[in-house]
Amino acid sequence: MARVFLGIGTNEGDRLENISRATQILAASGAARLIQMATIAETPPLGPPQRDYLNTVVEVETTLPPQELLECVKRLEQQLGRAPSSQRWGPRIIDVDILLYEDRIVEEERLTIPHPQLHQRRFVLEPLAQLAPDLVHPVLKRTVQELLEELTSTKHPRPAERTGRGGQAPSTQHEAESSRGEQCGSSGG
Ligand code: AMP
Repeated sequence: MARVFLGIGTNEGDRLENISRATQILAASGAARLIQMATIAETPPLGPPQRDYLNTVVEVETTLPPQELLECVKRLEQQLGRAPSSQRWGPRIIDVDILLYEDRIVEEERLTIPHPQLHQRRFVLEPLAQLAPDLVHPVLKRTVQELLEELTSTKHPRPAERTGRGGQAPSTQHEAESSRGEQCGSSGG
């Protein structure tokens, strides 16, 4: 079993319900077992004017390798109704990111672990620090708590003062996958 942390964000529809359904689908699929969930916090959006986000982080256990877990979460996003969009940083009903997968480092075209913006986003680091403050970022060699403190002591503003969803642009376009309808975890593992 691999210990994995997933970041979840949503700013469309019933946002609490979206987070609840995302975790239910993950658990029901057998792809991942939910261990714990951080506090859900409301955070301002990045990019075009849009509704505030609800963000949280969940710790799960999974037998899926990282690439299959990515396919699983992408299918989950589609199941929840995430539509293909060409708008970068645009609103989304659900967004699930693989933040950390054990101490694995993955650098592939479609998958980067640890998530490349993990250490720059307060809305990720704060809930992650609730669950695993002593976890060490395998690339930066800093604990989650240290990364959060470094963010606090640098130029990054506090949540209430933020004008964006995160400190940096995402490395990828926010586009949904083309395949639909499969249950999360159906790819095996
Ligand atoms: P998103 O807009 O967050 O749904 O992500 C868009 C794309 O980012 C996905 O289709 C993935 O191929 C890619 N990606 C790269 N690294 C990650 C990661 N650690 N977690 C989730 N998506 C990732």
